[in-house]
Amino acid sequence: MKRRDFLKFLALLPAGFHTLPGLLNKFESRFTPLRNSVGMFSMQGGTIGWLTTDDAIVVIDSQFPDPAREFLNGIGQFGGGPEKVLFNTHHHGDHTGGNQVFKQANYHIIAHDNVPGLQRRSAVASETEDAQAYAQTTFDRMYELAVGNEKITAEYYGPAHTNGDSVIWFEQANIAHMGDLLFNRLYPFIDRDGGALITGWLELLETVHSMADSETLFIYGHGNPEFGVTGNRDDLLIKRDFLAEVLEYTQRGIQAGRSREEIIQTEQFDNFTDFISPSDFLSLPRNLDVAYRELTESD
Ligand SMILES: [Zn+2]
Repeated sequence: MKRRDFLKFLALLPAGFHTLPGLLNKFESRFTPLRNSVGMFSMQGGTIGWLTTDDAIVVIDSQFPDPAREFLNGIGQFGGGPEKVLFNTHHHGDHTGGNQVFKQANYHIIAHDNVPGLQRRSAVASETEDAQAYAQTTFDRMYELAVGNEKITAEYYGPAHTNGDSVIWFEQANIAHMGDLLFNRLYPFIDRDGGALITGWLELLETVHSMADSETLFIYGHGNPEFGVTGNRDDLLIKRDFLAEVLEYTQRGIQAGRSREEIIQTEQFDNFTDFISPSDFLSLPRNLDVAYRELTESD
């Protein structure tokens, strides 16, 4: 990824945007309680999820050092016991950039097996190795954690947005944190160099949809400000349909003899006009380019 584009993307998705202005003023907070002591925190980067119990504080993703410090300064208002756990949904810098701050605060970091390696490779490429803290515990398919009355399950379903994505389920609260497996009504980043697979991603969305019910509340890494960073399982099928259209559109173009350059000219699909493109980095041409690679490269 081009770091400049990435930073532009972050700048264009200011945190707290999804929060109603009235609520933000009333609580003067970036913390949003959801249900059963599970909530979210938005400032800069992928949405943080959290759970507080008498025994523990469990956090999903760490944004960057400044928001991580702000989070740690404020989470105490919701209680929380001495055991401290941080899950990383995947390796991207806007989800792991605050890891060092959490580690210094005695959080134990957990992620899928592939996350530390992908994170290290990105850090080497961007010369940010000194700023990293890596998961101390990793897992293959699933990791379960019982905290108070809550059962938390981190589950890996195969390559999708990267090849190290987990969905974090809170069973009692009936909440699932999707990390970047759902960019809500905006063009997603599909990190092919980080092991992404569009076909895997759309299958994952179907699987997660079938595991949820109509009451399941989903937390998303990023969202179109108009639609926010929470929603229900219907959002997953919209994203599934979008990713299927990206692949089918590209396949039809290849079959019709169109070049890669022609195919990636398209900037919007008629059925997905509410998707926004905050930068070239998150755009339909970028998505089509990844689809073209997925359909034509043998690896
Ligand atoms: Zn990501």
